[in-house]
Amino acid sequence: TKEVNGAKMEGVAERVVNIGSRILVFVRLRPMSKKEKEAGSRCCVRIVNKKEVYLTEFANENDYLRLKRLRGRHFTFDASFSDSTSQQEVYSTTTAELVEAVLQGRNGSVFCYGATGAGKTYTMLGTMENPGVMVLAIKDLFTKIRQRSCDGNHVVHLSYLEVYNETVRDLLSPGRPLVLREDKQQVLTQYRAYSTDEVMALLQRGNQNRTTEPTRANETSSRSHAILQVVVEYRVKDASMNIVNRVGKLSLIDLAGSERALATDQRTVRSIEGANINRSLLALSSCINALVEGKKHIPYRNSKLTQLLKDSLGGACNTAMIANISPCNLSFGQPEANEELHQAPESETDQAKLLLELQKENRELRVQMARQQQKLLTLQ
Ligand code: ADP
Ligand code: MG
Repeated sequence: TKEVNGAKMEGVAERVVNIGSRILVFVRLRPMSKKEKEAGSRCCVRIVNKKEVYLTEFANENDYLRLKRLRGRHFTFDASFSDSTSQQEVYSTTTAELVEAVLQGRNGSVFCYGATGAGKTYTMLGTMENPGVMVLAIKDLFTKIRQRSCDGNHVVHLSYLEVYNETVRDLLSPGRPLVLREDKQQVLTQYRAYSTDEVMALLQRGNQNRTTEPTRANETSSRSHAILQVVVEYRVKDASMNIVNRVGKLSLIDLAGSERALATDQRTVRSIEGANINRSLLALSSCINALVEGKKHIPYRNSKLTQLLKDSLGGACNTAMIANISPCNLSFGQPEANEELHQAPESETDQAKLLLELQKENRELRVQMARQQQKLLTLQ
């Protein structure tokens, strides 16, 4: 029947598109800050083992009553990183394989997701002493390219972009907004990159160009997404000894603070339209949901972020999602702590919601992938 044919057709298409695709979800707990220690904060997150996270306490009695069912709940991920995990280990576990895949002409993306102050920028960019995923990925990429320099000349191009209020800016040559066109990615500044030091300098300079929210000095860049795209082009000989061009692209994304997405969830569609702060975050979650549900139409065009990631999300791409979480409950009732709440509205409720969302997503993705594997087996 037509239906059966339809299903078969779908299966064949997926066989091409989905082979080897992978979506992994990680959690990283940041260490307690000096300020938090001094305030006598207690740690409300426990990393049980390599994969499990346990929420031990709640911010206050109300939260506890509302989230009672969460007490004692374990959250399972592909890997969880405690507050003493090194940048190198986070890189090796989450991103190293994606770098290898890019060198084989496959696209991939790594996201850091979490509330302001949870450690997203530390994880992605890091510091001079402890460089993060972006820098380690590029360092590793150059090492790998040197190792295989015999099989062709590789050219690496970088673009470092910011999506802020649905405007895309080039962080490497700031000052002018960029217009995105469906098939014209070359409007962006692309640097031909040669060394890790050069890259770190570029990224740090770029990060200083990120938008600072004018009203709250402490919320630097919490509303903007920073996207590093690394494109590797190279030539190889195919089976019949013809020289072919291969291109792989890796996108590394320091997302805007998730507290805004959670807050926006409760607002009306109209107010989201009015203040399109979160359009990109919401659109990203719609795209991921559509991919998980195996929908034909993925709404990439709904935001600038998803337009930029169109060829690096879903399909034959590898995706890693790192959820950054803070260790502390805020101590309510203390004026100083309340001020901190305004700067970084990270509450236990948000964190529990975030973990639940990610866990659900992770579970759905696994079911989806198992189904696809089943389909492939049936077809073979
Ligand atoms: P976000 O980008 O999510 O708002 P940041 O990355 O700026 O958060 O982290 C907030 C603060 O915590 C920064 O001072 C950062 O250096 C520190 N920090 C975050 N994660 C870690 C970590 N794993 N180890 C040490 N310091 C960290
Ligand atoms: Mg940040």
